[in-house]
Amino acid sequence: MFEITLEMSSERLRMALPLMAKYKIPVTPENYWVWYQYVSGDLVPIRESIDRLIDAGGHIDETATQALYQRYVASQDQQHVASAGDTIRRLIESMTSSLNTADSEVTRYEASLGECAEALDTDISSEQLKALIDALTKSTQRMHEGSTSLHANLDESREEVKALKEELKLAKAAAKTDPMTRLANRSGFEAQLDSLRTDPIAKDATHSLLIADIDKFKLVNDTYGHIFGDKIIKVVAKALDNLTKGKDIAARFGGEEFVVVLPGTSIDGAVAVSESIRQNIANGRIFNPKTKEEIQRITISIGVTTFDLGEDINAVIERADGALYLAKEGGRNRVEVADATAPVAAMTA
Ligand code: GH3
Ligand code: MG
Ligand code: MG
Repeated sequence: MFEITLEMSSERLRMALPLMAKYKIPVTPENYWVWYQYVSGDLVPIRESIDRLIDAGGHIDETATQALYQRYVASQDQQHVASAGDTIRRLIESMTSSLNTADSEVTRYEASLGECAEALDTDISSEQLKALIDALTKSTQRMHEGSTSLHANLDESREEVKALKEELKLAKAAAKTDPMTRLANRSGFEAQLDSLRTDPIAKDATHSLLIADIDKFKLVNDTYGHIFGDKIIKVVAKALDNLTKGKDIAARFGGEEFVVVLPGTSIDGAVAVSESIRQNIANGRIFNPKTKEEIQRITISIGVTTFDLGEDINAVIERADGALYLAKEGGRNRVEVADATAPVAAMTA
């Protein structure tokens, strides 16, 4: 880059001062700037203007010098203002386009941006530009405060929605659960069965269903009280839960009756599971909480059947119920099988 050395500036000073003296132009910074430009020839329009004036008869005085200063220096200043205005206008345009929320703060902000943009369309002075920037800074601050509280509100709402979703999830789960045993209730049973229906492997497979009912439970209630009866129901539920796993569905259908679906399990497998449940309950030793004496053994009877997912589940349950009836008739504490191909009427007769 071209640099002005000390020698060059001294040389220009030596050239400019005699000319300024010749034309009786006071050596002020502004006047000197004009004549410095003249002798250096750096600013061609100044050189040409002064030469024209000298050629025309030497009407080059302080007023003409000041006029040149105004034209070139002041206009340069104006150019700075204009380029700053352009930058701000671009900023305003990009901010305006990104403002798509229609709350009142935004509307006010947009209005003040619009005013600034309008003002920039006219020629403005440095002072006006400064006032404009101040106004813009203030409304940006207001906007920032507004958007900060908007964000806080949004965060709060997001937390509330999250908590509500969690509550809803719990409520949905609760609606599908038996509160006493924590096993699925009828609704939960249906929901899990629906999930099984969407499983492509389960579609063509054979499944088993068993119904378990506590034997002579009325007597347990009558002898030890309802609260103790509830405890027995929980013990049986726990055993069912422990002896089933994975995709198995264990549910309490109400009272002291339980239904278990064993997906992809043949009748032999289902009978084996039923037997282990029956034995687990029958072998359990239960003590009277008051007397600490061992009470009579609790037993269950189970009816088992197989089914495929194309069958109405109520018909399957009815068929298993027929086998349960046979188990009760056969002396209780037993597992009976209902033939999936046999008509229901024959089983329950
Ligand atoms: P069975 O061997 O033929 O099944 O005889 P059972 O006495 O068990 O007869 P049944 O199954 O018909 O009787 C069910 C009894 O279970 C009647 C009812 O008082 C009792 N029960 C039903 N629900 C509950 C419960 O939630 N808690 C308690 N403690 N008892 C219940
Ligand atoms: Mg019953
Ligand atoms: Mg019973």
